[in-house]
Amino acid sequence: MGRSIVCLTFDFDAISGWIARGMTSPGPISRGEFGPHVGVPRLLDLLDRHGIRSTWFIPGHTIETYPGECRRVAEAGHEIGHHGWTHRPPATVSREEEREELVRGNEAIRSLTGQRARGYRSPSWDLSAHSVDLLLEQGFVYDSSLMGGDYIPYRARRDDVAELGKPYKFGQETKLIELPISWSLDDHPHFEFIRTQATVLPGLQSARAVMQNWLDEFLYMKKTVDWGILTYTMHPYVIGRGYRMQAFEDLVGKLTAEGAVFMTMQDAAAEARQRLFPGL
Ligand SMILES: [Zn+2]
Repeated sequence: MGRSIVCLTFDFDAISGWIARGMTSPGPISRGEFGPHVGVPRLLDLLDRHGIRSTWFIPGHTIETYPGECRRVAEAGHEIGHHGWTHRPPATVSREEEREELVRGNEAIRSLTGQRARGYRSPSWDLSAHSVDLLLEQGFVYDSSLMGGDYIPYRARRDDVAELGKPYKFGQETKLIELPISWSLDDHPHFEFIRTQATVLPGLQSARAVMQNWLDEFLYMKKTVDWGILTYTMHPYVIGRGYRMQAFEDLVGKLTAEGAVFMTMQDAAAEARQRLFPGL
């Protein structure tokens, strides 16, 4: 019998992501508000009824703007991970600003849970060249922002060198455990309609079709590896819409019936370390 682990993860951006993009008019703000006002209570209820502990990556901005909702998430026993303070992607800020984001975000998390985060997920999944060093410096155990694998965690590298016209140079593997993600397993691009001056992202796909893809991803993992971790990424203001919740709850039921072992990311990272990198 294999062991097929599933991490349900929620990036609780609320309004921070819109503000970080400069979209501060009442429309985008209200879109973010749907998360704490409607999505979070629905998700906490679903997770409670299924007895699932999950991981919530929460920006400091959300913790300080919606302290009550964040407290409810933590008190329900879910892991609180780091997701920046302002929700600016690391690749868009200086090294010093990136460090400040990590420190300030951890202060907010410590005020919520009494301890700093074990895990990090970068806003918009865009680490900088400094991120791995800074995450190690700040005591993180795992990251969940990269796409170099699917079911098997790996060790994040530092000091890669990309130069046009030369072969890529891979840096050293570090002790930071990478729990890989994918845009295909993220609710945001599938569902959110976003119109800016530069682009239109259509989103608004069938929730049933997306959940079928997500189930197939699990079934493929179960079929092909003895041990693996599958990570789904959701946002309360995205998955929290009624018809999506309906389809998501059906997925949770099917995953359970197929033998999925639901875990927080920190527990999954600990199991990965023991199994794959015992000397770390
Ligand atoms: Zn986010």
